[in-house]
Amino acid sequence: MHALSASASAPAALTLSWFGTTAVLLRAGDDALMVDPFFTRPPGLWPLLRNDHIAPDEALIRKWLRKENVTRLHAVLVSHSHYDHALDAGVVARLTGAVLAGSASTANIGRGAGLDDRRIVVAAADQALRFGPFTVRFIESRHAGATGGAPTGEIAAPLTPPAHYLDYRQGGTWSILVEHADGSVLHHGSAGFMPGALQGRHADVVVLGAALVDDAESYLQQTVDAVGARTVVLTHWDDFTRPLDAPLKPMPVVVDLAPLLAALDRRAGLRVITPALARPIAVSGAR
Ligand SMILES: [Zn+2]
Repeated sequence: MHALSASASAPAALTLSWFGTTAVLLRAGDDALMVDPFFTRPPGLWPLLRNDHIAPDEALIRKWLRKENVTRLHAVLVSHSHYDHALDAGVVARLTGAVLAGSASTANIGRGAGLDDRRIVVAAADQALRFGPFTVRFIESRHAGATGGAPTGEIAAPLTPPAHYLDYRQGGTWSILVEHADGSVLHHGSAGFMPGALQGRHADVVVLGAALVDDAESYLQQTVDAVGARTVVLTHWDDFTRPLDAPLKPMPVVVDLAPLLAALDRRAGLRVITPALARPIAVSGAR
């Protein structure tokens, strides 16, 4: 009888699926949330360099959500407001009944996507947010790169697309810890860090951004080692100027995986996953 009631109350298995860049879906049974959803991936490098106009491709977003059987999300969480993390966030939240949570700049992307203010949460550092069976904490971090993550600054007013690539200003960068009865995941979307910020936290899995890594060893010390993770899922290595339904290719120039892989390889017992698109990874098995 005890065994029966224990199994009846056991949490659904938590899985993590990756959709290019740092876009991930965390799902446990009917409960799900997404971090940095980005399906639109405006094509081509020249439009980006010319700072053309971009907009979320709502038909494409619907197609991906339907394909993945995502009808409801508790929340859409955003690490920072650059377009490759946040362009689609407001639309995904609107289409799935989700709360959008992130910086004040991310909130303005949500407003520009027609999301009601009651469904927007401006994250405060370390505050525990409850979304269904998930507890979420936004932890202050830093953007990678010598420029400090250009375009820097805030999105100060509702951002209604089409807007320029560079209108998607960073708005501050978060590392996001998601805890569930079945396991915990740290989403670290940009390869900067605030020294010591993750010390004393725990995550079973780190979703690690691999773009613009400066010093791989200190990056891993401040993220993977700090939270004692046994599994790393490598993200943000793909060329996001190509569509998701084309074969994924590594991003030239800004991603140099060799030093990061070498530093990961020095850590005995660490499981490193280069994820396949949309293929669920069990988080529970990662402990
Ligand atoms: Zn960025």
